[in-house]
Amino acid sequence: MPRLGILAWPAWVLCDVADSLVRTVFSGLSVLRIEGVEDAGDTVVVRASTRDGAVACPSCGTPTEKVHALHERIPADVPIDGRRVLLRVRVRRMRCRSGTCARKTFREQVPGVLERYQRRTVRLTEQLRAIVAELVGRASARVLPAVGISAGRDTAIRTLLGITLPDRPVPRVLGIDDFALRRSHEYATVRKPGVQPN
Ligand SMILES: [Zn+2]
Repeated sequence: MPRLGILAWPAWVLCDVADSLVRTVFSGLSVLRIEGVEDAGDTVVVRASTRDGAVACPSCGTPTEKVHALHERIPADVPIDGRRVLLRVRVRRMRCRSGTCARKTFREQVPGVLERYQRRTVRLTEQLRAIVAELVGRASARVLPAVGISAGRDTAIRTLLGITLPDRPVPRVLGIDDFALRRSHEYATVRKPGVQPN
């Protein structure tokens, strides 16, 4: 029976595999250009930048490709392999081309991935909210590190308070009735929306 030798993959195959792995794992970051992934022990560091191209000035709407400066933002992203993920994203400060615009420069935004001033990506914040909403504050602060999300009790409570409650329709008619938990001793009230009055 022939023995199988160890296959030496050509470099271009390995590059292709690495590229498709990065595209698959970081598909949620496809608006960015992923430039490298570093193993930093407990943390995976992903280097990325915004894609080239014109950006509309938020004040006057004039598109511009003029780069004034480069900045780095370092938000946390959703964990991979049970490890924290930090993005190092290079974003551009653009110069408005309109001579009459009051805004001379502005920082480009990464909608859907990074919100202004946030230290977490949008998708990490969504994960955090889902866990905090289920476990309500203190318990979630104990569970989050175990799933690779770095957030203390204060963050958990702040996140919980920041969750927008769903809009429930206000009932036009509210039925109220009493019932006995223990007759002659203990009564309770039930409220039922949508019950028509007699
Ligand atoms: Zn402008």
